[in-house]
Amino acid sequence: MKKIELVFIPVAAAGHLIPLIEFAKRLLERDDRFSITVLVMYSPAMTSLAAAYAESFAETNTPIRFINLPPPIHFRPSQEVHKSLEKFATEYVDYHKACVKEAIVKHLVSNSNSAPLAGLVVDMFCTSMIDVGNELGVPSYLFFPSCAAFLGLLMHLPTQYTLTGREFEEFDGEVVIPCYVNPVPSSGLPEFLLNKNGGYTSLMNHGRRFKETKGIIVNTFEELESHAVNCLLNDFDHVPPVYTVGPLIELKGEMQNEIMKWLDDQPESSVVFLCFGSMGCFGEEQLKEIALGLEQSGHRFLWSIRKPPTNKLEGPTDYKADLQEVLPNGFLERTKEIGMVCGWAPQKEILGHKSIGGFVSHCGWNSILESLWFGVPIVTWPMYAEQQINAFQMVKDIGLAVELRLDYKISGGEVVSGDEIARAIKYVMDRDNEVRKKVKEKSEKSRFTVMEGGSSFAAFGNFIDDVLRNMP
Ligand code: UDP
Repeated sequence: MKKIELVFIPVAAAGHLIPLIEFAKRLLERDDRFSITVLVMYSPAMTSLAAAYAESFAETNTPIRFINLPPPIHFRPSQEVHKSLEKFATEYVDYHKACVKEAIVKHLVSNSNSAPLAGLVVDMFCTSMIDVGNELGVPSYLFFPSCAAFLGLLMHLPTQYTLTGREFEEFDGEVVIPCYVNPVPSSGLPEFLLNKNGGYTSLMNHGRRFKETKGIIVNTFEELESHAVNCLLNDFDHVPPVYTVGPLIELKGEMQNEIMKWLDDQPESSVVFLCFGSMGCFGEEQLKEIALGLEQSGHRFLWSIRKPPTNKLEGPTDYKADLQEVLPNGFLERTKEIGMVCGWAPQKEILGHKSIGGFVSHCGWNSILESLWFGVPIVTWPMYAEQQINAFQMVKDIGLAVELRLDYKISGGEVVSGDEIARAIKYVMDRDNEVRKKVKEKSEKSRFTVMEGGSSFAAFGNFIDDVLRNMP
């Protein structure tokens, strides 16, 4: 049987690539008529992650293949990356238009053995690839790795800009944004929306182009974000079909024995886990306050600590022997009976362990979905990207997290005190707190929604039907 081909175009960020690949896998499990090609733009970390995926899929004969695009040796961004990562990422993707088209033509369009191309599935930062789809005469679908409310915010930016003629400002006060139940304090808006260096404009242009796609796949589920999903359907004009197919969580993962063994020895729901995403890391002063807070709380803990990078594009690394130097004197010795410190952590496996009772998180959307899936309540400590507004939504709009901070920004230099950290940990670890009960209920819903009969399962089916219907 001749297959139908979809080309996936992700960006080089774990939080985007991982759910996209999970989506690809589920699509193939659901419908064996499809095969998928993933075009990987060069980035050291991402190219190796993609290579690991490619190897594991090759072993199982899964029809997903990865094509590495050549390093963009002549790429010259219009400004340094630290001014706006979002603008940089957008320009980086735009630069690849010609070579993406070339790769598709070479490997698919002009290859007579290749399956007919049904369309492109492009990441939220890859809207310029819609042009490539148009040139090739195939439809594009958007893959949105974050939540429906944030999707609504980005799609609202062009209207907001027309109304006010400017970006958001820190001093705007409370801002009414469609898809959020409550007005959002401007201090808690993502930094790139307050950024005069091109972050806002880049995101606004993406938000505008989302409507040019034939459909939008969102990593969320209706029962979690009913307000935002209704708002997308009813309050915006000309929105393409929205497929809420989440949570997209890769459940079979790596195991790190030392950590899992330690967790096996801890009582049920007794450990608070602290982990801050693929880019989260703190300076020494803040690490010392966290250590203080943990000791003060008296709870068992598992703490993932990452070392700040010297180059913003590289991301944090793990400490080695130098870890001792950034923690308070004697901390590791004093807490060795009740705590464990690690580097990069197998987060999903940890959240799924029965000993975990709470999660201090940076509120990346994948982390939120993972903690809900396993019924572990979150303490919010947003750091970068759209995490501030995710934290706001979780605490204020849907009451599924405990507030530590809603507007903390990694670049702001604020130091959260050990006292506050201890207080939040004590609260989240309290077995009777309301948030814990609500999170447990939502956990059940998140598992049901992806099963036959669930809303995400149905949305997945709608996506498949539409792809077949829109085939060129
Ligand atoms: N993650 C992990 N171990 C870590 C940090 C992160 O496994 O030490 C995983 C986490 O489980 C999630 C992803 O990396 O699947 C992070 O995605 P998220 O959207 O939460 O945040 P981002 O890293 O994109 O800011």
